[in-house]
Amino acid sequence: MPPRHHQPEALLATLSADRGRSDRLTHTEHLPARAARYAPWPEGIRPEIVAAAEGLGVSRPWAHQAEAMALAGSGRSVVIATGTASGKSLGYLAPVLSELLDGTEARNGRGSTALYLAPTKALAADQRRRAAELVPGRVRVALYDGDTPGEEREWVRQYASYVLTNPDMLHRGILPAHPRWASFLKALTYVVIDECHSYRGVFGSHVAQVLRRLRRLCARYGADPTFLLASATTAEPAATAQRLTGLPAVAVTDDASPRGPLVFGLWEPPLTENVGEHGAPVRRTATAEAGHLLTELVEAGTRTVVFVRSRRGAELVALQAQDQLGQPLAGRVAAYRGGYLAEERRALERDLHSGRLLGLASTSALELGVDVSGLDAVLMAGYPGTRASLWQQAGRAGREAQGALAVLIARDDPLDTYLVHHPEALFATPVEATVLDPDNPHVLAPHLCAAAAELPLTEPDLALFGPSTARLLPVLEQRGLLRRRADGSWYWTKRERAVDGVDLRGSGGSPVQIVEAPTGRLLGTVDAAAAHTTVHTGAVHLHQGRTYLVQDLDLETSVALVERADPPYTTSARDITSISVLSTDTTEQWGEARLSFGSVEVVNQVVGYLRKRISTGEILGESKLDLPPRTLRTRAVWWSVTEDQLLDADIPVDQLPGAAHAAEHASIGLLPLFATCDRWDIGGVSVPLHPDTGLPTVFVYDGHSGGAGFAERGFSRAVEWLAATRDAIAACECERGCPSCVQSPKCGNGNDPLDKAAAVRLLGILLAGAPDRPGADRPDSDRPGPVPGQPGPDQPGSDQPAPGQSAPGQSASGQSAPGQPTSDRPAL
Ligand SMILES: [Zn+2]
Ligand SMILES: [Zn+2]
Repeated sequence: MPPRHHQPEALLATLSADRGRSDRLTHTEHLPARAARYAPWPEGIRPEIVAAAEGLGVSRPWAHQAEAMALAGSGRSVVIATGTASGKSLGYLAPVLSELLDGTEARNGRGSTALYLAPTKALAADQRRRAAELVPGRVRVALYDGDTPGEEREWVRQYASYVLTNPDMLHRGILPAHPRWASFLKALTYVVIDECHSYRGVFGSHVAQVLRRLRRLCARYGADPTFLLASATTAEPAATAQRLTGLPAVAVTDDASPRGPLVFGLWEPPLTENVGEHGAPVRRTATAEAGHLLTELVEAGTRTVVFVRSRRGAELVALQAQDQLGQPLAGRVAAYRGGYLAEERRALERDLHSGRLLGLASTSALELGVDVSGLDAVLMAGYPGTRASLWQQAGRAGREAQGALAVLIARDDPLDTYLVHHPEALFATPVEATVLDPDNPHVLAPHLCAAAAELPLTEPDLALFGPSTARLLPVLEQRGLLRRRADGSWYWTKRERAVDGVDLRGSGGSPVQIVEAPTGRLLGTVDAAAAHTTVHTGAVHLHQGRTYLVQDLDLETSVALVERADPPYTTSARDITSISVLSTDTTEQWGEARLSFGSVEVVNQVVGYLRKRISTGEILGESKLDLPPRTLRTRAVWWSVTEDQLLDADIPVDQLPGAAHAAEHASIGLLPLFATCDRWDIGGVSVPLHPDTGLPTVFVYDGHSGGAGFAERGFSRAVEWLAATRDAIAACECERGCPSCVQSPKCGNGNDPLDKAAAVRLLGILLAGAPDRPGADRPDSDRPGPVPGQPGPDQPGSDQPAPGQSAPGQSASGQSAPGQPTSDRPAL
């Protein structure tokens, strides 16, 4: 059956009219169509490529593609930051392949080479297909990743002109073996960095240093490649590209591709009969609501993709829709979880395009590797974390000239709730900048070692690696990792490979292995930093939809022994946290209040855990744990108010802990609106009287050693951030605090104490003294580094929900007395 097409307004009206749902649709935004603008092919694009593009239906490039091609052709580094399906790959492929074609006329047949980096293997495979379409057989294009057979690798090094790989392989496989890549690197003209917005946080900071190592080696071989970056629409793409590559780049952002009209609905699921912690009202989950809406859209013959944050969630949405639809329609709904083979992905694309498949529930893995554009509707079960991803997902809906529907379904948390009630934060606000911090000494130190192992480091190299370098080298020397020779250069002293000490995506510490006790089977690993809270003895551990009970966590051997079990409860760790200020970099006086940014030390100890009945959230019991404290040195933003201000705000001493704690929770929930992090990347501590400030103080810190740039962003956008926090709490319809405003799923104190009303007053008095013009004019400061230590943990974008996230619980008790700090750990 061919797909039918439906007017998006009518669809949305039907969805919200059913069964008294009108109040769930909180906002409808109409985004007008945009007409295409074209430009001639720039000079330097080879006629073969123009002809091939014409064969593919592109007679002229769109204006932004032509602009990028011309800049790239002139040797300027470029970042193309335009929407989904705006032809970014043609924008960089045309100049790259033209150059490589020119290079085939060199005597050795390889006068020019290019390197392509993508965050996933699927994208690299896709790139090979696209390149082959434009220059069939003329340019030697080759994948080089962990799956490339040994005998092929030598061929790639010797003969391939366009090598497609990923940052991990560049870091681990190519750079350390650079002499074998000498002829490739010598001719390196272009480096393409696809989906560069995915290099954020600690992962992005690592990739930035890998690129600096690449640039240094290229320079030694006499090459000076031009960098071509492709990004989703983000704020400040040129600045981010420069932070990533270390080179200035020109941003191409004026999207000239055509777009059909889009109707965008914001949707809030209804309150349920259930109650959560402290009797808080609980909304229906975004996934359950998405399952319902998917059912109705499929019944109406609408081709729909639902984006869900977790794999398990994607499966649940598909299952629910299949159940509700019954046969034969159930057979036209599927779940997609990533990790599929290329043929399977192509089959999926075909089925969606043909309309054989009407509904697909997917994690965002779909963003990377399957081309599903031209859908009738896109549902997002939960805010995908950034406006950039939101637009990327919504951009899957709609074809030229045809209208489409996108619906964002709020989860029961402060950020989602804020967004569906503040449409201007989505529709009238530019997308956020990609945050990364390559100067983090915890990131930099191991790359200096790796660089020194590749070629001794010399004085002129220091500037390339950033301002922390000069300070770090003596420390690495002291630790016996590097040695300085008489000629002034630094050498790697160890026998083992320096790169093996760095995992770009994983943690610095050795991860804890999760082993099934009866079989000895390895189920997976969890970051050392997360182990205490997630796989402590007695913890309920979820793995791919199955439940396990941890029999024993052995920290000596880094093994958690688990067994299959179906206990009627979930567990949530209780911890105590202290935070101390190591140094203050910047301070702003906000009237009597004070806002600061700097380095802190967070000491966290998991002391026990609660067992909560799954069905009701009732507390079944509390057990003590004997785990050592863990120390994290990182970056934080913090604010303090004075006692006079508390008096003015009518906050008596006994309300202060609950006010500060509630403000802290909500501010952690809202920070992702301003930095490309999610609430699991950051932690917080609120203290009624902090010894370092002598005042009531709320801290929000990066959950990664040395920081990842998130707290820094919070500082530079503090006025908007904290104002949004206050508004979010004030606007929530609950009476005394709920997951949509001040309750946190990862609270180490069982969400106690929390005082919603006092939090609004506290933030109000803080903001009363804030500067009028928010930090809009203030660029992010270049940060000096804190004390170097071990490489820090990082785990960008985990698919697994952290403990306590899956089932809202009801906690009866809380140990916090006034004067005690309350804390919220990052999920690390
Ligand atoms: Zn609430
Ligand atoms: Zn808390």
